Amino acid sequence: MKIIIARTAGFCMGVRRAVDTVLDASNGKKRPICTYGPLIHNPQVLDLLKGKGIPAISDIPEKGEGTVVIRAHGVPPESKEALKGAGFSVVDSTCPRVIKVQRIIHRHAKKGYHAIIIGDRDHPEVIGLNGYAHGRGHVVETLDEVKKLPAFENAIIVAQTTQNVAFYDDVKKWASQTHPHYLTFDTICDSTEKRQADILSIAKNVDAVVVVGGKNSGNTQRLAELARESGKLTFHIEDVEELDMNRIKHLDSVAITAGASTPNWIISKVYRAIETASASQERLFGIPVAVIKMALMRSNVYLALAAASLAYACSVLQGIQNWLVPSAVAMLYVLSMHIFNHLTAISADRYNDPERADFYDRNKWALASFAFAGGGLGLLLAYSLGTFPFVVLLLMSLAGLSYNLPIIPNRLFKGKYKRLRDVPGSKTVLITAAWGVVTALLPALTSRHGFTISTLPALLLACGMVFSRTIFFDILDMQGDRIVGQETFPIILGDKKTAKILKNLLITLALMLPLSSLLGLISGLGYILWIYPAFLFGLMIAYQKRLILPGFQLEFLVESQLVLSGVIALFWSLFF
Ligand code: SF4
Repeated sequence: MKIIIARTAGFCMGVRRAVDTVLDASNGKKRPICTYGPLIHNPQVLDLLKGKGIPAISDIPEKGEGTVVIRAHGVPPESKEALKGAGFSVVDSTCPRVIKVQRIIHRHAKKGYHAIIIGDRDHPEVIGLNGYAHGRGHVVETLDEVKKLPAFENAIIVAQTTQNVAFYDDVKKWASQTHPHYLTFDTICDSTEKRQADILSIAKNVDAVVVVGGKNSGNTQRLAELARESGKLTFHIEDVEELDMNRIKHLDSVAITAGASTPNWIISKVYRAIETASASQERLFGIPVAVIKMALMRSNVYLALAAASLAYACSVLQGIQNWLVPSAVAMLYVLSMHIFNHLTAISADRYNDPERADFYDRNKWALASFAFAGGGLGLLLAYSLGTFPFVVLLLMSLAGLSYNLPIIPNRLFKGKYKRLRDVPGSKTVLITAAWGVVTALLPALTSRHGFTISTLPALLLACGMVFSRTIFFDILDMQGDRIVGQETFPIILGDKKTAKILKNLLITLALMLPLSSLLGLISGLGYILWIYPAFLFGLMIAYQKRLILPGFQLEFLVESQLVLSGVIALFWSLFF
């Protein structure tokens, strides 16, 4: 089945910024934290914030403590001052497009202009805008009300950012005919219009449209209306449980769109559920291939195979003959560590990959036993290679197991960094280091020659590729990681900057391989292994151009790039 997610689905820029600000504040700012008014009109987000101990206050107390976040709609300047005066540390997440309108009003009010504000007088954004008019603001909701205003010597006209475009055009036309000296400003945000145009064009090419968002959200209702008017089977749901999969799973194509206050993780949940339902229908010679693929991925067996492949490729690069046992050790280590870490980090998966979280919840004992058995067997195999490899693997296993667990008791340390996972970027660095050791260093350590000059390019390749894979997933998982307070590289640096670093790294690795072979540092495998980083580079571009959407297929392809290293190495060993 082809599943399309509308480009404009979900949070608009202002809402995303406000939600990110609150989540970041909850993970780092002075507590207690609250928002001034409900952050957005979405019950799941408000429940989530409540769960994180972030209530919404509607009145400014005389004395306040901790941090207060101003929502995307903004507030009048005197409210901001009152919040500061009460003793709060104020974090302003007013949408930049709303700030632009506030500034226009403020600038002109200082010169004595009246501000005619076209909008809903009870709306928080309009109340905030009016505050910048310094007593010269006039909020009007209809053309009749506009016409009844006195004639001003100097006035500006602005609109609430979500105002109806046709109505505002009528107001501007009236002003140009009756008060040509009034200054009018185009202040309507195009986010809603773009969202509607997007679904109209997508609906033409699909069998059904799923609209995700509040049943009483105006902009979401309008999206559902437009989809129905296009004649396509339309589902308006608030969460995935409401979706009748029996009516969807046999279709050839489905589009998903969502209102401006629908979080990504709900859209992603819907996408993954449809993907899973449609995959359960796919058969190859009667075998449910997609279901098997999903089980291999969710249980981390496929990732373990990827680790063995990478260890084999690194061995061939270094000219190591006895690759079998070290590759098996790498496979078992990765299998047990990744299962354990998913078992102890279900909270992030609840947002990033709910299907995986359910899978781990349902099978926790079987998976824990599997991980124990795998880890134990890996240690035994490492012992068969020598005491030093055994000690190295044991220490790495202990570090991996303690990643999600508090290592400093509460009574000894009250700070934020009690677990390894609390250290910013630690997940990526530790995974990279652990994979580098088991896939590149361990085969060298246990070989006849020990470490040689070829170990360095092999280590750089293993670390570079695992770092890239992990960062790629971190980019996909940003919203869930933010919710649980995990500071990954994309959260620290921003997704665009991180993606740029990633692409440069992959290009460097692709160039390093043939060059190292040319210089005789590694075997001739380097002449063809450059395909491997190039493959991940291609996936990154496809993701950025939305040719592949985040979901099971993309994850499978990203993990497959690691398997690809072993396939290329095997091909080279057999034919060169
Ligand atoms: S709809 Fe536009 S103006 Fe309003 S919060 Fe979103 S981006 Fe900002």
